[in-house]
Amino acid sequence: KAVMEKIVWRRSLHLRNQQQAWQESPEGRKMLEFRKSLPVYKEKDALLSAISQNQVVVISGETGCGKTTQIPQFILESETESVRGAVCSIICTQPRRISAMSVSERVAAERGENLGESVGYKVRLEGMKGRDTHLLFCTTGILLRRLLVDRNLKGVTHVIVDEIHERGMNEDFLLIVLKDLLPRRPELRLILMSATLDAELFSSYFGGAPMIHIPGFTYPVRTHFLENILEMTGYRLTPYNQIDDYGQEKIWKMNKQAPRKRKSQIFSAVEDALRATDFKEYSPQTQESLSCWNPDCIGFNLIEHLLCNICEKERPGAVLVFMTGWDDISSLKDKLQAHQILGDPSRVLLLACHGSMASSEQRLIFDEPEDGVRKIVLATNIAETSITINDVVFVIDCGKAKETSYDALNNTPCLLPSWISKVSALQRRGRSGRVQPGECYHLYPRCVYDAFADYQLPEILRTPLQSLCLQIKSLKLGSISEFLSRALQSPELLAVQNAIEYLKIIGALDENENLTALGRHLTMLPVEPKLGKMLLLGAIFYCLDPILTVVAGLSVRDPFLTPLDKKDLAEAAKAQFSHDHSDHLALVRAYEGWKDAEQDLAGYEYCWKNFLSAQSMKAIDSLRKEFFSLLKDTGLVDSNMTTCNAWSYDGHLIRAVICCGLYPGICSIVHNEKSFSLKTMEDGQVLLYSNSVNARESKIPYPWLVFNEKIKVNSVFLRDSTAVSDSLLLLFGGGISRGDMGGYLEFFMKPPIAEMYQTLRRELDELIQNKLLNPRM
Ligand code: ADP
Ligand code: MG
Repeated sequence: KAVMEKIVWRRSLHLRNQQQAWQESPEGRKMLEFRKSLPVYKEKDALLSAISQNQVVVISGETGCGKTTQIPQFILESETESVRGAVCSIICTQPRRISAMSVSERVAAERGENLGESVGYKVRLEGMKGRDTHLLFCTTGILLRRLLVDRNLKGVTHVIVDEIHERGMNEDFLLIVLKDLLPRRPELRLILMSATLDAELFSSYFGGAPMIHIPGFTYPVRTHFLENILEMTGYRLTPYNQIDDYGQEKIWKMNKQAPRKRKSQIFSAVEDALRATDFKEYSPQTQESLSCWNPDCIGFNLIEHLLCNICEKERPGAVLVFMTGWDDISSLKDKLQAHQILGDPSRVLLLACHGSMASSEQRLIFDEPEDGVRKIVLATNIAETSITINDVVFVIDCGKAKETSYDALNNTPCLLPSWISKVSALQRRGRSGRVQPGECYHLYPRCVYDAFADYQLPEILRTPLQSLCLQIKSLKLGSISEFLSRALQSPELLAVQNAIEYLKIIGALDENENLTALGRHLTMLPVEPKLGKMLLLGAIFYCLDPILTVVAGLSVRDPFLTPLDKKDLAEAAKAQFSHDHSDHLALVRAYEGWKDAEQDLAGYEYCWKNFLSAQSMKAIDSLRKEFFSLLKDTGLVDSNMTTCNAWSYDGHLIRAVICCGLYPGICSIVHNEKSFSLKTMEDGQVLLYSNSVNARESKIPYPWLVFNEKIKVNSVFLRDSTAVSDSLLLLFGGGISRGDMGGYLEFFMKPPIAEMYQTLRRELDELIQNKLLNPRM
């Protein structure tokens, strides 16, 4: 013990000396000065003493005040300075992998170290962590995964849960688990950090934990709503019902008083906006006024107009544009660049900022451009709180974000651009006043802002809960519904029941809600249950290689690109890979082609020619490796690639495995004279996304489609489908342990066929079951 103490003491001394030397170097001194200028620095002592005296502390402070980069460092520094020595192990969770990576890099730089020394990170597939790492930034998912094997977080001294205001599902889940853990680990410290003033909610959840607010400073921001923006250009909005021209549902219209040239331009933008659609979540009156403003349409013209105006006339300073999603960002970026709309391209630095960007791209966003160059960042809501760009002076806010929601009644996930909350709007506005007085343009009228919800609905209330339920079971947290009733805000009972029912149907839970062998295996795989099931079956039926590709492909951003202006070409390119009415098999072919091309160092060309994303292809490649090694851990495959691929060339078998994984995601194909229509049990008529290979066909010689995902946009759309025959569905559809067919085919329900079928089915189930129970046999 004495030896251990000595080692620890030496280690702290070493860390302390190292930091001291760094802080005395010119670079280190500059860095320290910057750190000291952050608002959080003034609260350092108060924060540290609150943390040492309380098991739970809730900290709130404006984005950019230094919470994420400084507070973990304060703890690390005070621990190495204290007599306790460098035994601390601090884990700081981030909702997104990109922030875990960029923050850890920044903190290491602030300490004059390389990543992987005292500061490290871990996200899925990647990590940088050494023997002496005391401060680890990781995604929330990684910490949850660790809790699976290490229920008490042995050795961890501090857990910091960051960005809790976002109310992601993983974070809400983690908080329930940690709340249970605290009494078992009285020494463990829990620190919750939020960018908004909702600390009370969390504090009362943890029995009145102390709250500390870090007063920030921002410069005043001049705010323009749509009516002001139009007015600046010579237009005025008048309540539409006072002019009445277009029919009752349209409330707003512009007076036509502006110079002619500009008028047509902007008028068409607003005209477009007036063609907007539905906003079910608001009251009828609000819906009526909201329905006139669809920033998705108005956005493009108006954003362009504003950007030109800023580039031409305004003082220096970066521009941050909040847009709905990646598609919008990339098409606007392409458009601006292709037509040099913003003037001399050497004077504009146009960047995109979104969740899946590469880290080299990321660094450019933080850099200040040369004099005379205007930095413009087109961003998703990731730039709202997790990433702070210091030199922003102008913000353009389209008012929408893509949000998943979940319709429990129809058991259908929806992905719709929806209006942001008031909190988000304020947050976006605040991004502009960090270095000097700022300017914010909201591309919607004031009345629309007034109708925004105060906060966004927490994710746990708006997504399907299957993976979460499985996790609850694998962490042995008792009854699912009882556990979820202890959440900060509990999900609807119906949503919980749907999830449990689903897990029973696919055979992951038995009748008593206990994990089956399949369920246990699924919890070890970091993918949705259906994809995990597909992987396991791919191993059991010796067709692993193509299934690895299918599952990896479904876990990354769609590798088939469809640029708006080349939609037809792109769809034709995908059709070349089409093979027997399956998007999944098309992906397998595309990947195999890429792999060959990559060997000849022609991967990029191949992607370019075939409208494929090289980034996604690479991600598929590394995910395949990860899945393979996880499957090796299960014992279902050994290193011998030949055995587990003995049947990989068999299209029917691959189809069977896909079918088994995706069931009950199934719809029937109804042919009529010229084409066909699709129906599911719950939704009635459904449609295919236009980039599905099956959407190009007029006839599909199969009675069923299995699909990966259905999403309600206006109608219900299916993404990625594979056609299957009756016999495949009969044998491979349905739960492994239940063997039900959902009453699809009368013929097979009649004796003696029914008996034969049942026997065959039972034997198949037994085979799978035995394999899952004794993988190494
Ligand atoms: P908070 O978590 O309170 O939002 P952060 O700790 O993330 O704040 O950031 C504090 C400051 O550090 C910000 O002013 C930000 O601009 C700066 N910063 C953070 N990351 C980087 C980076 N990678 N490069 C340069 N500056 C950064
Ligand atoms: Mg932060």
